[in-house]
Amino acid sequence: MNRYLKNLDRIEFVVTMGCTGRCKHCSEGSHVFAGEHIDGETAAKAVTEVCRHYDIKSLMTFGGEPLLFPEAVCSIHRAAAEASIKHRDVITNGFFSTDRQRIREVAEMLAKSGVNRIMLSVDAFHQETIPLEPVDHFAECVREAGVFIELHPAWLVSAEDRNPYNSKTTELIGFFAEKGFSADSGNVIFPKGSALKYLLEYFDGNTVQSDPYEEDPEDIRSLCFEADGSVLGGNIYSSDIMDIIEVYTAVK
Ligand code: SF4
Repeated sequence: MNRYLKNLDRIEFVVTMGCTGRCKHCSEGSHVFAGEHIDGETAAKAVTEVCRHYDIKSLMTFGGEPLLFPEAVCSIHRAAAEASIKHRDVITNGFFSTDRQRIREVAEMLAKSGVNRIMLSVDAFHQETIPLEPVDHFAECVREAGVFIELHPAWLVSAEDRNPYNSKTTELIGFFAEKGFSADSGNVIFPKGSALKYLLEYFDGNTVQSDPYEEDPEDIRSLCFEADGSVLGGNIYSSDIMDIIEVYTAVK
């Protein structure tokens, strides 16, 4: 076993960098919202293979907006459920279609594939460019399909800080709370990508923060597959995932 992955217990997939949102806090910056997405079958095979060798406890699919490609998301989660990964999450902004029937269909597909938590990105930043109505309908459809769904808001400075963005976010959480949806603690926006450009005034330059999305290359706990199939310096379209893991060497 590769010593740099001895604590591996999580898998993540960036399903696509394509997105329906244009959030000013996006850590990915003003990236080109290309439509490339991970191939569901290849990704599922990698999940099955990794789970033969590691005790993976959680798997998450996100983006971009992963539900632009629900078939790929569902293939990944089916493989995760078959491999008995306990926590199977999707982070989504909830806006991938305006067709109410299609939204219901996708919610039901997610339920069937074994997703057991949907983390819905709703806050002042997402709702600047994402309409609330289809998101609200998606949340209802997911609940009716029997999958646990909760809001996952982004806070500026801290959840307690009083600024206009946090006030709007609190208002949106209230809108969903009235319908019986709860919110998790969310995340505090990290100064990276577009956030650095548009929200700079809110970041204290003297405070050294560590990037919550960064892995220690000498102790990889989460295997993160990019939308183009790349992972740990290799690519699952051209190599077997276990070969990629075997030859991985940490570079700091
Ligand atoms: S924060 Fe999420 S929803 Fe918003 S632009 Fe970035 S990837 Fe898209």
